[in-house]
Parts: sequence; structure tokens; C-alpha cells
Amino acid sequence: FAMVTAAGDSVVRVVVRVRPPTPRELESQRPPVVQVVDDQVLVFDPEEPARGLPALQWGGTHDGPKKKGKDLTFVFDRVFAEGATQQDVFQHTTRGILDSFLQGYNCSVFAYGATGAGKTHTMLGQDGDPGIMYLTTMELYRRLEALQEENRFEVSVSYLEVYNEQIHDLLEPKGPLKICEDSTKGVVVQGLSFHQPASAKQLLEMLSQGNRSRTQHPTDANATSSRSHAIFQVFVRQQNLVPGPVQTLRVAKMSLIDLAGSERASSTHARGERLREGANINRSLLALISVLNALADAKGRRAHVPYRDSKLTRLLKDSLGGNCRTVMIANISPADLAYEDTYNTLKYADRAKEI
Ligand code: ADP
Ligand code: MG
Repeated sequence: FAMVTAAGDSVVRVVVRVRPPTPRELESQRPPVVQVVDDQVLVFDPEEPARGLPALQWGGTHDGPKKKGKDLTFVFDRVFAEGATQQDVFQHTTRGILDSFLQGYNCSVFAYGATGAGKTHTMLGQDGDPGIMYLTTMELYRRLEALQEENRFEVSVSYLEVYNEQIHDLLEPKGPLKICEDSTKGVVVQGLSFHQPASAKQLLEMLSQGNRSRTQHPTDANATSSRSHAIFQVFVRQQNLVPGPVQTLRVAKMSLIDLAGSERASSTHARGERLREGANINRSLLALISVLNALADAKGRRAHVPYRDSKLTRLLKDSLGGNCRTVMIANISPADLAYEDTYNTLKYADRAKEI
């Protein structure tokens, strides 16, 4: 039995990135549970290798007959195999929505997945291998430069986290910040600092400094796991300078979001303080899922969308649905050790295609 669903013409672009196996996963001597078939198709827990592809195998051999797999085929707007570079992911995710962004549409890009699945690697990246946040901002500067003759621009960035249902500025850490809705400016975080990085180097420094300010607590699941949602926002205010009957002013924001781990709090044996964090992580994450589900069900019809249920969804109220562009990057591990997390993430990503 194989389930196949088409990628369709959803307004949300849903892509999946399979990260390379970690040394520990390789040592487990179990074959991977994800097989990338091509740049849109993957098979989860294949019964046997897809036609023409080599058997799934890492390192040593695995003995005995394999138990019958779930053998689920998924189709996404794009599937990135473990060899994909940051540049590949950028080219097929945010690059495609920059045009809309420059036309004044709000955009949001999410990295979704369990702790350890590669969200932070995808969004922030590592020394010498910066991720989507950096690549998107740099490409934006390049495009704005090309449009400079005819337009005046103001670009600024902010970086915040939602942790325990509180908003913290990651670039100028201070007490928790409040959200309010302004009839002209949309959603505003009071007291949030805005910055104008003067160079690529400064932007990189800002991103890594912000990341160091994130609230991190070791959990059983991953010693450096992040229990917070990190949101990097780029604001562009654009004024057309060419004299004419219509003077256009466009304001838009792009939100690039490294979500907290999607695994259930129980799976990390959370207790006490960590458990409370878990409940709140789920509150913002569950609210986001409900909002996206409501948007999927509504499909253009008016419907109640529960934006008010969490800080994350209140913050993104003007960046989801309707006139917005959204990209969901579902991050997964290929390893048997992450079987349940990977299965849940793929099921969720499959549902998100309906939005
Ligand atoms: P998450 O943020 O989802 O918890 P991370 O981004 O921290 O996960 O990734 C977990 C580990 O896997 C890190 O050590 C990270 O460097 C590594 N990793 C993740 N994705 C990749 C990738 N595409 N290529 C190489 N290493 C990766
Ligand atoms: Mg992370």
C-alpha cells in the first residue's frame, strides 16, 4: 500500500530537508528510514528500495529479514537530500518569494521539525556555512541595489525569541516585550530594537550574537536543544521616486523562523520547569498548527482563525494566510533512531500542503 498525494497548487510552499546522519546514527548500524527518490518525492520506511535505486544501507550489514515497512510515498514542492547545500535550499525556498516581498507582500518562512532534525542549521547555519536568514538578507540587499535608481529604501532587521510565552529581544536583551496591533503598522512588538547592518560581516555577527542570547537548556533529547522559537524579521519600506500620477509606498516584512522542537514534551522525559516549558512550547506550536489548519480548511472562505491563542500566532497574524507568502521547511533525520519524529513531521508537512 502506497499513499501518494500531489503537491497541488497550495499557497504554502512545503519542502522537506533530510539532514546527513550523525556519527551516532551511523554507528547504530541500522538502515535509514528515508529514501529520497527525486527532487520532489521521498519514501518513508520503504519496504524495498525504489526502482533503480540502491538498497538503503549505511556502514555495516543488517541481518535477518526486514520487518514490513510503512512504505509511504510523499510528494512535496521540493525534497532536499542530505547532500543539499544551504545555497540549494535557499534557491528553492525563499529566493522564490523575494519578488512578492518586494511587491509589498508579507512573507514567512518556517523551519519545522524535532530537536536535532536540522532547523537551526537550515535557518542560521554554522561558521563558514550561513543559512537561510543570512542568504535571504544578502540577496535582498543585492536586489534593492539594482532598484536604487528609482526607489528609496529603508531596510531594518530585528531578532527575537518566544520562550515560555514571553517575547525577548535577542539583539538588545531586556525584559519581556508586549505585542500590540497598530491600524497602520500592523503587529508591533513594543520596545523591540531595529538594526541596519552595514555589511555582510555585521549581519553575520548580529545573527550569531542573537543566537548566543537564545534561551537554551539541556534536555535528555539533545544537550544543546533550543526550547524557544527564534524569529528574524526583515522590514522593507520602499518609495518610488519616479515622478508620475501614482506615488507608491510599499511596506512589507519577512519573518524567518527557527521553531522550537516539535517532539512531544513527554518524549524528553521533561519534569518540573522543563515540563512547563514543554507545555508552553506546545502552546505556541500547537496554536501555529491550528492557525495553519484553519487556513487550510477555510481555503479563501471566511472562517475563524485562532491567532489570539499564543504569542507566536499573534506575532505572525499579519504574515500568515490571505495575502502572504509562506514557506514551510520540514527538517528530518534519515535515521531509524528518529523514526517517530520523522513520521510525525512528514505527516504534518503533508497536511500543510493543503493550505
Ligand atoms: P535543530 O535546530 O533542529 O535542533 P540542528 O540544526 O542543531 O537541529 O542540527 C542537529 C545537528 O545536526 C547539528 O550538529 C548540526 O550541525 C547537524 N546538521 C543539521 N543539518 C545539517 C546539514 N544539512 N548538514 C550538516 N550537518 C547538519
Ligand atoms: Mg535548533
